Amino acid sequence: MRRPRTARLKSPEEVEKIRRAGRVVYAVLRRVAQMAEPGVSTAEMNAVAEAMIREAGAEPLFKGVQTRQTAFPFPAALCTSVNDVVVHGIPSERTLQSGDVVSVDCGVRLDGYCGDSATTLCVGTVAPEVRRLLEVTEEALWIAVEGIRPRRWWSEIAGAMQAHVEAAGFSVVREFVGHGIGREMHEEPKIPNYVDRRQDFMLQAGMVLAVEPMVNMGSAGVQYADGTNWPVVTADGRYAAHFEHTIAVTDAGADVLTDGR
Ligand code: MG
Ligand code: MG
Repeated sequence: MRRPRTARLKSPEEVEKIRRAGRVVYAVLRRVAQMAEPGVSTAEMNAVAEAMIREAGAEPLFKGVQTRQTAFPFPAALCTSVNDVVVHGIPSERTLQSGDVVSVDCGVRLDGYCGDSATTLCVGTVAPEVRRLLEVTEEALWIAVEGIRPRRWWSEIAGAMQAHVEAAGFSVVREFVGHGIGREMHEEPKIPNYVDRRQDFMLQAGMVLAVEPMVNMGSAGVQYADGTNWPVVTADGRYAAHFEHTIAVTDAGADVLTDGR
C-alpha cells in the first residue's frame, strides 16, 4: 500500500468556521431546490446562488477554478449537471424540463474556511428508476455518515457504499472522488467512493472530509462532454446522480457540517 498522504487535522474552532461556511452552502442548496421546476434555467439558479453567497459575505469557490485540462476558468458559482452530466456542468440559459434531474454542487469560502455540498434534484415528474438512482446515491452518502468513526479504515466505508450502489444495479464513478477540505476546497486525502487500497487511510478525529458519491445508472465510464473539459458525462448517455456533504470526524463519529444545523 502506498503511504497515504495525511490530512491536516482541524481544531474545534476551525470545524466551527467550516460549519459556518457549510450553513451558507446549505441555504443556497435549499433555495435552489425550490427553484427546480420546468421552465427555469440553470443560469437563473446560479444567479440566485451567487447573490446569496455574496450577501452572506462569502465567496463562491468554483468560480475561476482553472485546471491543466480545462479550456477556461469555471465561469459560475454553481455546478449544475443535468441528466447524463455527472459533474462540472456549467449553468446555461437552457430551461429544465419535466423528467430532468439536475445535480447542484455549491462550495463557498467564508472567513477563510470552505464548505462544499451537492444534491441531485428532480424536475417535475421523473421516471421511477431515475428516482431510485437518486435515492441510492443519497443512501450511499448516509452510509458514510453512519460509518465514520476514528480508527476505522476509509476502505471499509467505501466498500459499504460501493456494495449498496452495485446491489441496486448502478455503478460508482472512479475518475472523480471526494477530498479533504478546510482552508482550501481540495486538501488531502483523496476520498474514493469505491475500494481502492492505494488511496486508503485511517479516519482520525479532527479530519474534515467532503464525501461525494457520484453514481451512474448504467456503466461506470465517464468522458468529457466537449473540448472545454468541463462537463463530465456518462459514457453510455444514461443518467447520473451526485450527493455530497462536508463532514467532520469527531470522537463520537460524524458531524455533518453542511446540513443546516
Ligand atoms: Mg462539491
Ligand atoms: Mg467536493
